[in-house]
Amino acid sequence: MRKNIVAGNWKMNKTLQEGLELAKDVNSRVSGIAPKCQIVLGTPFIHITEVVKTVDSAKISVAAQNCADKASGAYTGETSAAMIQSTGAKYVILGHSERRAYYGETAEILKEKTDLALENGLLPIFCIGEVLSERESNSHFDVVKKQISESLFHLSAEVFGKIVLAYEPVWAIGTGKTASSDQAQEMHAFIRSLLVEKYGKEVADNTSILYGGSCNAGNAKELFANADVDGGLIGGASLKAEDFLAIITAF
Ligand code: PEP
Repeated sequence: MRKNIVAGNWKMNKTLQEGLELAKDVNSRVSGIAPKCQIVLGTPFIHITEVVKTVDSAKISVAAQNCADKASGAYTGETSAAMIQSTGAKYVILGHSERRAYYGETAEILKEKTDLALENGLLPIFCIGEVLSERESNSHFDVVKKQISESLFHLSAEVFGKIVLAYEPVWAIGTGKTASSDQAQEMHAFIRSLLVEKYGKEVADNTSILYGGSCNAGNAKELFANADVDGGLIGGASLKAEDFLAIITAF
């Protein structure tokens, strides 16, 4: 059966020292509980190695927030999937709307990144989601279908089984405006129906689909109670251990 996952996305926040303090704080709070979900910390690259050493790997995994679309070589400033894997990170967040919008990440680039991540043993947390004008023009289902099919549907069923999806309506990210529980469930059920169509029921049932977009301690319980919402990708509320723990314990 699919896993429940609560994944933090620290984005470009926290110095190394601040990040380690946060990881230690999350780790010590989690040590006293039996979480009903896998916990992931999506840290900046430079934090990964130290955070991996700091947390209890039985309960907490570490994710990178991006990887290069090339395997290795003369690509100044880039970080390859193989490098990330060598740090002990287990996941990599790919296709976040901020990377699509600010760094020109296209469906084709994301396909390359996904393939390299998988070839190097990383589990992609693949983000999809519509902008406000797309929801208002009722094209949000088509947009999400296109994002998934163009970057992921070349994968075999076996390989697709390693993908975690994160539905993040762009209008809800960092805005304090959350999708309603019904809107989240409607889109998650639609995404799962696409997976049934493409890969069959078993793969669809085993795929974790996370919700992201202003998820917090106050709304996590209601969002996670939906049949097709298997956890959250959490930005702002992952930057304080207390807030993040309140989301983890919403399961
Ligand atoms: C995100 O960026 O993945 C995210 C969900 O951010 P926030 O929770 O701050 O909306």
